[in-house]
Amino acid sequence: MGAQIIDGKAFAAKVRGQVAEHVAKLKESHGITPGLAVVLVGEDPASQVYVRSKGKMTVEVGMNSYEHKLDADTPEDVLLALIDQLNRDPAVHGILVQLPLPGHLNEDLVINSIDPAKDVDGFHISNVGLLGTGQKSMVPCTPLGCLMMLRDHHGSLSGLDAVVVGRSNIVGKPMAQLLLGDSCTVTIAHSRTKNLADVVRRADIVVAAVGRPEMVPGDWIKPGATVIDVGINRIDAPEKGTNEDGSVKTRLVGDVHYESAAAVAGAITPVPGGVGPMTIACLLANTLTAAARANDLPEPEGLTA
Ligand code: NDP
Repeated sequence: MGAQIIDGKAFAAKVRGQVAEHVAKLKESHGITPGLAVVLVGEDPASQVYVRSKGKMTVEVGMNSYEHKLDADTPEDVLLALIDQLNRDPAVHGILVQLPLPGHLNEDLVINSIDPAKDVDGFHISNVGLLGTGQKSMVPCTPLGCLMMLRDHHGSLSGLDAVVVGRSNIVGKPMAQLLLGDSCTVTIAHSRTKNLADVVRRADIVVAAVGRPEMVPGDWIKPGATVIDVGINRIDAPEKGTNEDGSVKTRLVGDVHYESAAAVAGAITPVPGGVGPMTIACLLANTLTAAARANDLPEPEGLTA
């Protein structure tokens, strides 16, 4: 029997719809329009695409979008001054500094200069600590999106065995904290894990966040397990032919070998169309949450950890 495909694109559209409804209510009953400021330093093409699509979706859900584009050689003190200004601006509820930053800028210093209450990426050290101690925090968007899909599929996650492959600060570690918060029994695997296949094989929930194309094959998956594939890897796809410049066409794959895993899993997220679209939806959800908290209003149900 094939796995149920968890349609992240449709789920993300649903989440954005819920955010839009809350935003409309906030405007109508309290005169508040949530605002998200995105800061982009330099001209990295991928970052430009992300920032553009974040801005577009922010406006689509009825929020205000403020884009700040700075030159690649912007001095650190200028960037910090902008963040300070955004921290103090009551119209701005969420601040996102697009990563990676150019090499001369200290990423930790920059991220930790954002007001934690406006840190919609959830990377500020205070939010990391709050999440780690089970307190109310801003939660990183990608793991939050994974959690929402898992809750939607399973209802309660309590008592399930979860294996997170990858221990990065932006995905693996916060994902593990969130699963622990929902009472899973959590294992975090990484590049030094022994017998990774056996570790993954005992999981009811597998979250793969490694960055290695198709490294988790189907025979590592316990029959019926839920597989969340965070990986986004571009690989050559000679079967699609060549581009005008003669280069081989490419395609996106996850960290899980989709076909073999889908044959045994109970449910699986595809790549593309799985976790990816949930990330921006959760950024919008976090901005809404930040706006509600800033005004001492109840948090939107189902859109937070
Ligand atoms: P990092 O490179 O920061 O972390 C990768 C992790 O994988 C590390 O902890 C590393 O272990 C572990 N790892 C590497 N090789 C192996 C191996 N052979 N076996 C087991 N573990 C291994 O990556 P990110 O967490 O930032 O991203 C992971 C993937 O998710 C990438 O493909 C990225 O593009 C994607 N991503 C997708 C997002 C989305 O919106 N869908 C958002 C963010 C990321 P160690 O610590 O020991 O080195």
